[in-house]
Amino acid sequence: MKEFQVVVIGGGINGAGLAREAAYRGFKTMLVEQGDFAQATSSQSSKLIHGGIRYLEQGRMGLVFEALLERKRLLHIAPHLVTPLRFHIPVYQGDQRPAWMIGLGCWLYDQLAGGRNLEASHRLTKAEISQLGELKKEGLKAVFAYSDAQVFDARLTLETALSASDAGAEVHNQMAFVAAKRDQDRFIVELKNFRNGTRLEVSTQVLINAAGAWAPVLDKQITAKPKRPGLKLVRGIHFLVKTGAVNHGFLTLPKGGRIVFVLPWQGYLLIGTTESLYEGEDRLHIPPSEEEKEYLLKVYNEYFPNQPLDPSQILHTYSGVRPLIDLGEADLGKMSREAHWESEFFAGGQGYWALFGGKITSYRAFAEQIISEVAKHFGPLGPSKGDTAQHPLPGALLPSDAESLRARLKGDPALALKDQWVRRYASGWAWIARRYLDHPETQTLLARGFCLAELTYLVEREKVWELEDILLRRSLLAFEFTQDEKTLIGQKLNEIRVRP
Ligand SMILES: Cc1cc2nc3c(=O)[nH]c(=O)nc-3n(C[C@H](O)[C@H](O)[C@H](O)COP(=O)(O)OP(=O)(O)OC[C@H]3O[C@@H](n4cnc5c(N)ncnc54)[C@H](O)[C@@H]3O)c2cc1C
Repeated sequence: MKEFQVVVIGGGINGAGLAREAAYRGFKTMLVEQGDFAQATSSQSSKLIHGGIRYLEQGRMGLVFEALLERKRLLHIAPHLVTPLRFHIPVYQGDQRPAWMIGLGCWLYDQLAGGRNLEASHRLTKAEISQLGELKKEGLKAVFAYSDAQVFDARLTLETALSASDAGAEVHNQMAFVAAKRDQDRFIVELKNFRNGTRLEVSTQVLINAAGAWAPVLDKQITAKPKRPGLKLVRGIHFLVKTGAVNHGFLTLPKGGRIVFVLPWQGYLLIGTTESLYEGEDRLHIPPSEEEKEYLLKVYNEYFPNQPLDPSQILHTYSGVRPLIDLGEADLGKMSREAHWESEFFAGGQGYWALFGGKITSYRAFAEQIISEVAKHFGPLGPSKGDTAQHPLPGALLPSDAESLRARLKGDPALALKDQWVRRYASGWAWIARRYLDHPETQTLLARGFCLAELTYLVEREKVWELEDILLRRSLLAFEFTQDEKTLIGQKLNEIRVRP
């Protein structure tokens, strides 16, 4: 039986971040994800790396301050995935929040960011407002611009898991936590490997439950002590739209309604809102409600009447949930986004941590706090591998043979593919180029601009198992390829996927 110091359950951003932090500190670590990395909430977010300007009016300065600090760190360790974005907040006659209040909020946001700020906020001049051609002008009193950042959330999660693996952790997707029992001073953890249908056991001193919306369910399995906080599952919905209509980020504050984000993202437009209670059983395929869809369409069309959104333009609708600590607030938007964790030590000395809530933005800081607690009780076996706040994620590392690969690609038809590889996988392009150049049989095209070398990379390096992993989470190829192309890639994937 393999022995670990730390086993982390859940390959969302929190589990991946915890595994990376533990591996960097020198703990012998394992991460298990039952499906694909980021298959749940961590690919269904609003894709913002933000302090959360709206949390200011709730007085949550600590949350905003920490998140703004992490925003700077993520811009540093993942510049290929986290990019600055300018947001506009329009204020209309009769709005609940007057212009002075929004201006003050933007100013405070800048102050909290301090030296870490991106471009400072400002109130737009008339000339600048006239350039926002898409925005409704009737009744418009003011527009404020401020800066934040956005992220490819699923790839941030994946690369965080790969970084944990590169630092020595054993990292598995398609592997579920089944049960844990205690044996003297260790947990015996039963796992199921979906790649080959086998069951296995590993042992560990520390078990961390980072299973997101499933965390309360697993918690009941792992501990008999009912001391977990009350939780509500809160749902958000997003549309992905193919349109060049809106070129700026907008945060709209509809009268008496929920905030709606309208953001250019990865060549598409993302329109989304959060905050409706979810009471369904299925935690993976969260159905968006008709009422929420209508609300999003209505708000979008109200703010951008010159370019109304036709439902046929919507390429993809997704919905995700987050568990939030229930302190009895009537307004779901006012529930705390702060991460919460509980720990327990069993008679044999085994340590158990369970975490709930949080934000993608603060995942690294959250992981740092928990693993620091773990380290107080359990010393790591190995040497430290560095600081997770400083060390770039794999996609941001320069490949050592980049120059020679570029030279070899000169004059090769693959040179035209290289730009797409860089756009999709950043420094992962070098892995694909090596395979392509050294194994000519992988040069076969499976779809427009998509060759076997790229598929092999996705399977061997990025641990792809299902076609959907490629089309929706490793890239957005779902919206570029025809059904025939997808089928062909799926058939080839079936032949070459890794089944140990
Ligand atoms: C609508 C919405 C919008 C949001 N927007 C933002 C935003 O813009 N910016 C931001 O910073 N934050 C945002 N958040 C918050 C953020 O998305 C979440 O806090 C974060 O993704 C939660 O990550 P997680 O790892 O805890 O959970 P998840 O991503 O849900 O991961 C949990 C994982 O555990 C796995 N798992 C469950 N059971 C088992 C088992 N038995 N064995 C193995 N694995 C298991 C699941 O398959 C899942 O992949 C948003 C949240 C929502 C709901």
